[in-house]
Amino acid sequence: MGPRYQAVKGTRDVFPPESERFAQAETIAREVFSSHGYGEVRTPCLEPTELFARSVGETTDIVHKEMYTFADRKGRSLTLRPENTAGVVRAVVEAGLATGPMPLRLWYEGPQFRYERPQAGRYREFRQIGVELFGVASASGEAEVLRMLFAFLHALGFRSLSVSLNSVGTSQSRAAFGEALRGHLEPKASAFSEDDRRKIEQNPLRLFDSKDPAVRAALEGSPRTLDFLDDASRRHHEEVRRLLGEAGIPFKDDPSLVRGLDYYTRTVFEVVSADLGAQDAVLGGGRYDNLVEALGGPSLPAIGFAIGEDRLLEAAPFSAAARAFVLVIPQDAEHLDDALRLAAEIRQSVPDASVEVDLLARGFKKGMARANALFEAAPVQRLDPGRMFAVLLGAQERQQGTVTAKKLDTAEQTMVRRNEIGHWLATRLAEARA
Ligand code: ATP
Ligand code: MG
Repeated sequence: MGPRYQAVKGTRDVFPPESERFAQAETIAREVFSSHGYGEVRTPCLEPTELFARSVGETTDIVHKEMYTFADRKGRSLTLRPENTAGVVRAVVEAGLATGPMPLRLWYEGPQFRYERPQAGRYREFRQIGVELFGVASASGEAEVLRMLFAFLHALGFRSLSVSLNSVGTSQSRAAFGEALRGHLEPKASAFSEDDRRKIEQNPLRLFDSKDPAVRAALEGSPRTLDFLDDASRRHHEEVRRLLGEAGIPFKDDPSLVRGLDYYTRTVFEVVSADLGAQDAVLGGGRYDNLVEALGGPSLPAIGFAIGEDRLLEAAPFSAAARAFVLVIPQDAEHLDDALRLAAEIRQSVPDASVEVDLLARGFKKGMARANALFEAAPVQRLDPGRMFAVLLGAQERQQGTVTAKKLDTAEQTMVRRNEIGHWLATRLAEARA
């Protein structure tokens, strides 16, 4: 018989050590982003449905078929956010920050929800780390966020990623391009699915996201966004390319990159990883100079990106640093209080170690068996096998005012004065690290 309750389809539970990798990536994000002057914003998972229809776009896959939308008890239509940019823009406008000092630099981390077909690298609840920069119309906005993005990727151990780059121009040039694309695709659409034929009518740019071979074949030799750019967008794009080159950020032009959300203007970009399977997009981003105004704010340029944290961690070479470990083993239940006190003292001296007490107080033998089992599992538990100790506390030790310290890798045993054990461990752990 299986468990009575199971996680909702497309969602998952994350335990250590995977959860620690998430936490560490988030810590690195916080460090890198705050070192560039970005502050964290946290917005609700629940937003009015209308917000996404207005921003992401009524005809996009996300809004059309991927949203978790429901009526609350008062009949208001709410949606679990499928992405975070719309929520951040709503929050910025609502708080009056859109008319405040510029530039405004924000980042976020949190769960997003999309009703998609679950598969490797594609979940119904997944996490994104993202950045939004408001108030910078020039290409220096792109240069800053992409430099910062690469500093973050670098800190996670990535070395060979490059950005795919394109420009979709203004809403006018997008419209002209869409018209030309429609003209190109209509005669070839007989082999398309009904859904894709609908896209030709409503939003032909979306077809660039298709993996259907018939659509891909029809897109060969199609018009390119770059041929429809107005002069200012073209100059902006050239400037972006120049600044990325100057910053040493590896990029390649991808004329078929249009991105799956409607709000982008001018620059769009994406990073894919060869280390991922079919779902290889690690992050996407771009400029959205009209969105703030479209959501009721002032005219305010903006640019940002969203990283899929689940995919990022699947491909990221970094591993969480292995910790030192101390297991305090009371001889029996009578020594448990003392063991808890001792563990607290040890934590003061070695704050970066994991200090546990054998709460089941099973005796030295079973306690050591647990210590050794953890030693065997050290790589999986992200413990540093060379910095693991057991500290034994029993009647004999209590009488002598000592404890017995055992180094797990060598089984070397030392009697240490009880009031010196913290300092003793700190010294030994520091030596073992060097
Ligand atoms: P995809 O082409 O994979 O559907 P997307 O264009 O829909 O991606 P964005 O809306 O740009 O994705 O979101 C940015 C990032 O969030 C993606 O590059 C990806 O890493 C991640 N992401 C998107 N959808 C999912 C999902 N269902 N599960 C896990 N990660 C996701
Ligand atoms: Mg998608």
